[in-house]
Amino acid sequence: MAGKAVLITGASRGIGLAVAERLAQDGYDLALVARDEARLRAAAASLAGKVRIETWVCDVADAATVDGVVAAANEAFGGIYGLVNNAGVTADGLILRMSVENWRRVIDVNLTGTFNFTRAVAPLMMRQRQGRIVNISSVIGLAGNAGQANYAASKAGVIALTKSVAKELGGRQVTVNAIAPGFVTTDMTAGLGDQTKADMLRAIPLKRFGEGRDIAGVVAFLLSPDAAWLTGQTVVCDGGMTM
Ligand code: NAP
Repeated sequence: MAGKAVLITGASRGIGLAVAERLAQDGYDLALVARDEARLRAAAASLAGKVRIETWVCDVADAATVDGVVAAANEAFGGIYGLVNNAGVTADGLILRMSVENWRRVIDVNLTGTFNFTRAVAPLMMRQRQGRIVNISSVIGLAGNAGQANYAASKAGVIALTKSVAKELGGRQVTVNAIAPGFVTTDMTAGLGDQTKADMLRAIPLKRFGEGRDIAGVVAFLLSPDAAWLTGQTVVCDGGMTM
């Protein structure tokens, strides 16, 4: 994969950092994006030495900044082969009490952020006549979840966005796929109560929570030559929880 650059959003920790670690092992050059500069620098430092790594501090919800980051990364690497739209947030609450602000923020980051980066890379991937876009959705986007109407809607939107863009870009050999992870141990899930975690574990046939590397392996496959004829799909990676 030498000489191929992949841009990963939300790469400073959790699943995004695990994806960066795996793709660095596979030999890709990496453009890492997150909001918090200190965490992003620490992530880049932890990967240093293996491949070329550049970082950009960026709120994925800010379209103008996203356009600038993609232009700069394209310039720096001489092309962008892959995009992993991974940045995401939660702001849980039952619908009766969900503020408009919490609705908007989750949609803005998870769905509009994915749109912003996809729109920015699309023309250059079309010109290259190759490219891979991998969007991190969630099983919650397929099944829904009480207390997560905003998050579920954003992740279902990501799946519909994935299919639509796959149809638009397929003629230029750009594939667009989604991954729907189940419960993965990261900061995002750290706050869940012990009872909730125990209930979830009972519902997972493979009897363990996911790790970032479980999702990273699927990302690596979707970026690889083996996935050349696969587009518009949502790969559920959840230990069997939602089959
Ligand atoms: P996490 O540990 O909370 O990490 C989130 C990452 O996204 C961080 O790098 C964070 O950067 C970045 N980020 C958040 N808002 C951003 C913004 N506005 N602009 C740029 N970067 C932003 O979360 P995670 O569990 O790894 O989740 C990664 C993705 O997987 C998310 O899309 C999530 O919805 C999805 N997912 C997670 C699970 C799970 O069980 N963990 C399950 C299904 C799907 P900063 O450090 O700068 O804040």
